[in-house]
Amino acid sequence: MSRPVLVLGGGIGGLAAALALARKGRRVRLFEQGAELKEVGAGIQLGPNVYRMFEVLGLFEAIERWSAHPENLIMRDALTGEEVTRIPVGSEAFRKRFGGYLYGVIHRGDLYQVLLEACRAERAIEIQERRKGLSFEDRGDRVVLRMEGGEAIEGECLIGADGLWSRVRAQILGDGKPRVSGHIAYRAVLPRAQVPDDLWQNNVVLWAGPKTHLVHYPLRRGELYNLVAVFHSDRYEEGWDVFGDKDELTRKFENERPEVQRLLEKINVWKMWVLCDREPARRWSKGRVTLLGDAAHPTLQYLAQGANMAIEDAVVLAAYGEITGFDWEKTFGLYEDARYKRTARVQIMSRYYGDAYHAAGVVRELRNDLLASEPGAAPDFEGVAWLYDGIRLPQANT
Ligand SMILES: Cc1cc2nc3c(=O)[nH]c(=O)nc-3n(C[C@H](O)[C@H](O)[C@H](O)COP(=O)(O)OP(=O)(O)OC[C@H]3O[C@@H](n4cnc5c(N)ncnc54)[C@H](O)[C@@H]3O)c2cc1C
Repeated sequence: MSRPVLVLGGGIGGLAAALALARKGRRVRLFEQGAELKEVGAGIQLGPNVYRMFEVLGLFEAIERWSAHPENLIMRDALTGEEVTRIPVGSEAFRKRFGGYLYGVIHRGDLYQVLLEACRAERAIEIQERRKGLSFEDRGDRVVLRMEGGEAIEGECLIGADGLWSRVRAQILGDGKPRVSGHIAYRAVLPRAQVPDDLWQNNVVLWAGPKTHLVHYPLRRGELYNLVAVFHSDRYEEGWDVFGDKDELTRKFENERPEVQRLLEKINVWKMWVLCDREPARRWSKGRVTLLGDAAHPTLQYLAQGANMAIEDAVVLAAYGEITGFDWEKTFGLYEDARYKRTARVQIMSRYYGDAYHAAGVVRELRNDLLASEPGAAPDFEGVAWLYDGIRLPQANT
């Protein structure tokens, strides 16, 4: 029997990669360092580009059962409350423009569960928890993954889906720590009953304030309300998923609209993320080893596309695997060629979007003027088309 594909990391990217490869007939062993396979309890936004990937993976209906479709993406000025711009992502015009798919939002736990159940239903996938990978060795005809505890596991190739602090990346690229952006995110999910009626709406709303923003949208068909609050702070060097400082959060938003303050007040337990990204890389594979998702191209979350990109990566990687007859070095080269510019654009544009959301002074006024649309004008989706049009799937003759 041939050696399995090894996947290090059981986040959204790792599971999607395991599934996409199993669907192409490969045997996969996936190792996750955590004690339990799960995602943080918060929302995630899904562009039409990733719904097409769910279709390819045979998961569209399962995802649709759990996702909800907001009517609009709306940006408001957090100082005045004025609406800056909106994109009607729940409209028929949007669906038609983007190949029959709408914009969606989903609880991370639900998305994760759909992926996990699909992986568990594949006999070709073996998942092990509490297994931490330390390093790898490429022996030319196979890879050897060294685990904490000393075991050495052989595979035909290795996919590092081990996230922002990837060890596999450190060994392939050796490009040091991620870039700390100086932006902090707090995330919380409120039960519907805790959200005042006048603040509840079926839209993704972003309140753009000087060096801050707040996003909210309903989840699980309106049972829950997802909140993400972001502000600039240089108090934190690095860290992930730790409890925050509520006073600092309150201070940062103190001059903003009452709607913003009222939502922030509703939250008791906030967790804090120190947001990081990296400069785009041209190559992230070597021999029989590659990277996928945040390990390859970590991005700030301002386009809400990090997980979307990881899932696109998985589908493209598996498609090239099939095309090359699972010649891994060739597969990884083609996969990188197909992915590096798109993922770099997401990394770079996410920074620009963050700057626009957090603009102050004259820049804020200019932003509001430039994004304003003519009253009564038909919606224009061209600004987001590069992203939501999605990717062309690899074909055998390309
Ligand atoms: C505030 C915020 C909001 C966001 N919103 C969105 C959004 O709306 N839409 C969107 O598409 N994206 C969003 N993202 C980005 C998205 O969460 C990430 O891009 C995505 O989760 C990356 O998935 P991944 O599988 O590549 O990495 P991760 O989720 O980081 O998974 C890596 C996994 O590898 C495991 N691991 C690490 N090292 C080892 C090791 N040595 N051995 C074994 N296992 C290991 C980890 O435990 C982890 O489970 C957001 C991010 C943030 C911070």
